[in-house]
Parts: sequence; C-alpha cells; structure tokens
Amino acid sequence: MYSRWKTYSSYLREKYGEAVYRIGVDGGFSCPNRDKTKHGGCAFCDGTGSIAVYQRVAESGFRRTASYDKATADTILPRLLSVREQIERGAEFLSRRYKARLFSLSFQSWTNTYDDPENLKRIYDEGLSVLPFRELLVSTRPDCVGEDVLDLLESYITEERDVWVELGLQSANDNTLRSINRGHGLAEYMDAVRRIKNHGLKVCVHIILGLPGEGREDFIATARAVNDSGAEAVKIHNLHITGGTALADDYLSGVCTVMGEERTLESTELFLRHLSADIIIERLISETPYHRLLAPRVFPDKSKFLRRLEERMESNDTRQGDAAESCREGK
Ligand code: SF4
Repeated sequence: MYSRWKTYSSYLREKYGEAVYRIGVDGGFSCPNRDKTKHGGCAFCDGTGSIAVYQRVAESGFRRTASYDKATADTILPRLLSVREQIERGAEFLSRRYKARLFSLSFQSWTNTYDDPENLKRIYDEGLSVLPFRELLVSTRPDCVGEDVLDLLESYITEERDVWVELGLQSANDNTLRSINRGHGLAEYMDAVRRIKNHGLKVCVHIILGLPGEGREDFIATARAVNDSGAEAVKIHNLHITGGTALADDYLSGVCTVMGEERTLESTELFLRHLSADIIIERLISETPYHRLLAPRVFPDKSKFLRRLEERMESNDTRQGDAAESCREGK
C-alpha cells in the first residue's frame, strides 16, 4: 500500500507468503535502567513496558477519545500471570479480528534479557512451545546483551524461524542520551549490534524523533548511525509525553515541548530520506493510549498520518534512502 518506504508487511509477505501477526507478551522482566542504582529509568519511560493493547485488561475500557487520566497514567500496570496465557489471549484476538494464521512471538515489555540465562531459557522455551512461531523477537538494551544471552538466542534460530533483537538507541547524540538518562552511549549501541550480528541474529533499532534539544542535524546523524550499525530494521517513534515520567514534569513546567503533526511529517520524511533503502520500517509513529498521553493531544491517527506522509513524499518526489550517502545492499 505504501510505496515510499520499505514496509514490514511487504517484507513478511515476501518472506513467508502471507501476513505474519506479532503476539506481544510480558515475560515478567525488570530493567537495569530503572533499578535504584541507575536513577529511575529513561526520562520518557512510564514503566508500563509497552505491553500490547489487547493485554491491557485493566485498561480496555479506554478509547482514543479518552481524556488524560492522571491517576491511571501514574499507575504501573499489574503483570499478567503466565506467558502461555498471554499468547493464547493474543492468538485468539488476532485470529478473530484478522483471521491470522502465522505468528511471531515478541517479548516486548521492559528489558527481556535482564535475567540469568537459565531463567531466560525457561521463559523463552515456555513461549516457543505454544505455537510454531515464525519469528522470536526480544526487546532489550545495548548494555544487556552479554555473550551468554546471545548464545542462547542464537540457539533458537531454525530454518523456519528468525530471531530478532530489538535494541533501543533513541538518538545517536550522546548529549541527548545523557540528558534522557539512557544509561548508555552510541558506542555501546554500535558494539552491541556488531556482537549480535556475529551470532546470526537480526537487529531492529528503536529511535525517537523530537527528543528535547534535537533538530534536523540530529535526525540525520541518527539515520546515519542506524545505517552504519548494520541494523536490518527500525522502529521510529515521535516523542510522546506520558504521565508519571521525568519528561512529563519538564513538559508541565514548560521546559520541553513536542512536535505537532506538520513537524513530525517533515522530520519523519527527513529521517527516511537519510536511511538506507534496504532497512525495513517496522513502525513510523508512536501509539500511546490516550488516557496516558499528556502530549501531543491533537494528532491524526496512525492510518491518517501514514497516508499524509505518503502523499507528502509523493508530492516532494522523495523516498527512503534518496539522500543516504550510500546504499548498503550487499554490505
Ligand atoms: S530501557 Fe526501556 S524499560 Fe528501561 S527505563 Fe528505558 S524505556 Fe524504560
């Protein structure tokens, strides 16, 4: 449907012959960056761990039209009991809603390699035993991918199944990373991707457009860092300010702002143009439940935003990679 960037859905259809649906689960992990020793986590992190909407049982009554609800936004969600139960819930929902037949398993909440390898193996094994998943996806941080963890993840690669590591970078600017309290720098990200790829694993990097103090040059530098790292895919988020975060305090006291629709379209186009054409785009916009979202409150929904981005790039005759320094095909 979209022709100006390399979509994840077209990659999956090409590789597996039909759509593959992702089941996101909470494996019950924590995060080293939220431990007391690391000053309370990333400035944008609300502690909900990005759990999938169909797993938010306690919040299922809220809709896109919901007002900001400080009490709920400040509440960390209760954890679900078993990985198996979450997978069954996700598969049932996706099969009913989309007639899904093929699935990926995504450990997406918090830092999903932050445990002993024995415990990790027990939890991953439990998930992978439920369905014949086409992909295993594990979200984590550059400082949580030791060789023992990478050996374990590599052991799950089969002819039928790829294993992806989803790695947060957010920005290539070390000053920004310090100011949002990421607890790692660009060099650690680069080293992590190199080691992950040595194990035959694929990498999807997460970045944020519109972090405080950042502008065009930062977005271009981040696109170049993603290209240079060798990551196969990227998830792009526009900065969302959610309740219960350090950025929420800054936003409410006027220290930081967020980009509106026009600036987000412009920044996303700029980022895509500087990104290598072979990198898969897994996401282009943040989706925060509205009762947790402080800003931006006036913004098109995902399908409208993507349509407007496609129209804008058509009218400007731009596409992913057309301003990248070199294409990585064959690299
Ligand atoms: S690494 Fe992820 S879970 Fe940990 S504090 Fe940052 S955003 Fe939150």
